[in-house]
Amino acid sequence: MLKLFFSLFAGTLVLTTNAQDTISRDSAFIRSIYEEVLTNGECFENLRVLCKDIGNRLAGSENADKAIVWGKQTLEKYPLSEVSLMPVEVPHWVRGKQEVGYFSFMPDSIQVVAITALGGSVGTNGILTSNIVEVKSFAELKELGREKVEGKIVFFNKAMDAMLINTGAAYGGAYEIRGSGPSEAARYGAVGCIIRSLTLAEDKYAHTGGTIYNDSLPRIPAAALSSVDARALSQALKQHPNLTFSFDMNCEAFPRKMQANVIGEIKGSVYPDQYIIVGGHLDSWDIGEGAHDDGTGIVQSIEVLRAMSALGYKPRYSIRAVLFINEEFGNDGGETYARYAKENGITHVAAIESDGGGFTPRGFGMEGTDGQFALLESWAPFFDDYNLHQFRRGHSGVDIRPLKDDRVALFGLIVDNQRYFDYHHSNNDRFENVNKRELEMGAASMAALVYLLDQSGIPVLP
Ligand SMILES: [Zn+2]
Repeated sequence: MLKLFFSLFAGTLVLTTNAQDTISRDSAFIRSIYEEVLTNGECFENLRVLCKDIGNRLAGSENADKAIVWGKQTLEKYPLSEVSLMPVEVPHWVRGKQEVGYFSFMPDSIQVVAITALGGSVGTNGILTSNIVEVKSFAELKELGREKVEGKIVFFNKAMDAMLINTGAAYGGAYEIRGSGPSEAARYGAVGCIIRSLTLAEDKYAHTGGTIYNDSLPRIPAAALSSVDARALSQALKQHPNLTFSFDMNCEAFPRKMQANVIGEIKGSVYPDQYIIVGGHLDSWDIGEGAHDDGTGIVQSIEVLRAMSALGYKPRYSIRAVLFINEEFGNDGGETYARYAKENGITHVAAIESDGGGFTPRGFGMEGTDGQFALLESWAPFFDDYNLHQFRRGHSGVDIRPLKDDRVALFGLIVDNQRYFDYHHSNNDRFENVNKRELEMGAASMAALVYLLDQSGIPVLP
């Protein structure tokens, strides 16, 4: 009995020492990842090239073609096992000339507003002028009914909820106005639709984003107004309910075409056929430079592979950076990637996405099992020195979400997103608004999580 006790005790001691050795080894390696990225990082320069030499890159556009070539060449600069393209079919919509919008309540006097066509909108076929009805919700629109809406332009003036500290949740709460507002307005006979931009900023930037027409209703032109202009229009309407709003847009849709996801890979030494992926989306909207959305996620994902190979790390699982095409207007890249994986029996262990802007990282959101989440929480001490303290269940990323099943753990980099919607989908989303240090901290944090996942064998957990 005594002997058994001692051997157990000794076993415990050995285990404890081993565990401590592992913890010290992991902490030291994570430190070396941050050191590599913060002192030799290339993601900021890669972002500059993507934003300044290519610029915005809506899926289907020539610029997106250029970005795919850039992504492949950039990954090929580093000593990876393989870089490849995965064909993806994407929509092809063209904004056309710069939109013009104004309102008027006196003859010979107009007030020009900053507007941007919503992605997928039809054109106005010349200048479209009409009276306006202002509403804040679909319920208010329904209450007005066809009698008060027919032949007019519906103005959805709904702000994002300022009391949601997670601005992503505030965006989610206002999103349906942009997504379905134009078709809801058309349901009651409206001839056009304008919305207040989805932003928490008070400025003159208009923010675009996809709108989805309901096939059973007429397609009416739709645009977003800057928050300052939405306020001005609303105030003017109170004094001059009969004012007219005019806008001119010549957007056009073309047949779908082929583009590609770009994939870089370091082969695993133990489980070469099982994958841990990091990713973001290579496409952006067609105004601004797609810097925070999602150039930062792209260059951070590339940086994860660069840093791992610079450190000579030999992963147990195969590690991929996936630059998804067309998240913004149908998630074709993410859907195609997941379909390909399923059809070909490719196992994914974990996926990490950065698509919340290149701001100071705060932690990781996760979609997965209780066991996987417990493991993530157990790693919190490793991130303490780097100020990452938020580990919660919730959204991971739009591109990686189609991979969801019971085995794969999905993670989203959580960042301090208070300013994200100042930039998102607007001309203000520029390289100059990305901070080098914050961008690198995010890339290093993703690489650290990849390292822990690679070492842990997360797939065996319930
Ligand atoms: Zn995005």
